[in-house]
Amino acid sequence: SSTWANVEMGPPDAILGVTEAFKRDTNPKKMNLGVGAYRDDNGKPFILECVKEAEQMMLREGVDHEYAPIIGPPEFCKEAAKLAFGDDSPVISEGRNVTVQGVSGTGSLRIGGEFFSKWYNKSKLFYLPSPSWGNHTPIFKHSGLEVKSYRYYDPGTCGYDFKGAMEDISNIPEGSTIVLHACAHNPTGVDPRPEQWKEMSALIKKKKLFPFFDMAYQGFASGSIDKDAFAVRHFLEDGHQIALAQSFAKNMGLYGERAGAFSIVCGSKEEADRVMSQVKIIIRPLYSNPPVHGSRIAARVLSNPDLRTMWLGEVKGMADRIITMRTRLREGLAKEGSSHNWQHITDQIGMFCFTGLKPDQVEKLTSEYSVYLTKDGRISVAGITSGTVDYLAHAIHQVTK
Ligand code: PMP
Repeated sequence: SSTWANVEMGPPDAILGVTEAFKRDTNPKKMNLGVGAYRDDNGKPFILECVKEAEQMMLREGVDHEYAPIIGPPEFCKEAAKLAFGDDSPVISEGRNVTVQGVSGTGSLRIGGEFFSKWYNKSKLFYLPSPSWGNHTPIFKHSGLEVKSYRYYDPGTCGYDFKGAMEDISNIPEGSTIVLHACAHNPTGVDPRPEQWKEMSALIKKKKLFPFFDMAYQGFASGSIDKDAFAVRHFLEDGHQIALAQSFAKNMGLYGERAGAFSIVCGSKEEADRVMSQVKIIIRPLYSNPPVHGSRIAARVLSNPDLRTMWLGEVKGMADRIITMRTRLREGLAKEGSSHNWQHITDQIGMFCFTGLKPDQVEKLTSEYSVYLTKDGRISVAGITSGTVDYLAHAIHQVTK
């Protein structure tokens, strides 16, 4: 028989499977709220103007297709670190950060996983919020780490279970790594408030845990890149040596270009040099060096004052459109006469809303109204438009009344 006769069929990806089913549906009113990609108010993919301009500048200047260094373009790494830590961060001026380009957020998390697996000798335990982005568990498991969880989401309030989280965090064994979504938590859209972040930071310090941030949506939550970096910057001020994965997929609309960054904060410049040497040794046999089109664009947008101003406006525009859709959906449900409390739709933040719909309601929404979403009841608010929000409110009301 064939060499691969023993290979079993694996399950389809939970989110990409939703898109497949959506494509097969012939209902003209169908909506795909599964995938987390921003759409404009006509439901079309959105290319940022600042990105188009950066690309045109690059073409005019005649960029080449040479290899980047192992860590990606140095100016990209520098700009990514400044964006996360703040322009005047002492971590940067003291040369204590190791920052490398990763293959978007996913690849950056994976570099981090590999580095911790090899060099973090206090513990191999990684604690994720429950729930977390579905790819976190396999990313860290494939890196050889042991994945556990702490309470995060409260289904009773569709909000943050602060008390449960603090209780669980205080029981995590010393030395473990705790994964934190810096802003716009995926899949719940539920973030701690600044005061809660402060208490979490103090507790994480007291319990001697290592904070590993995933920041895939900087700017997307509030519309302000600085507000959304509050948690990361506060933990630094508190003296934590954090790890950080960043993605430019959402906030620059560079999904397929795979521009992201991984950073570790070290105790000194000398230590950072040693850590950097080992991060390069991890990257080299994985993919040698990263794709550069996206990271060149991002570096240019961040470093050119005109493009940067344009970008800040466009990020805010995307965030505001999402916030408007949340309000319109909630108003629509009220107009339909829904007796449920839908406040969480507007309390939650970022690209996603955890609606609280039960699996059978999700099923009905899809089969009767051609609204596609993941089984956990998560909808991508970025996929709703002025033209479809009332239909969605009607459909949700019908399956929940
Ligand atoms: N982390 C989280 C929490 C995410 O939601 C995503 C995107 N879905 C990512 C990381 C990484 O995405 P990408 O690899 O496309 O940058």
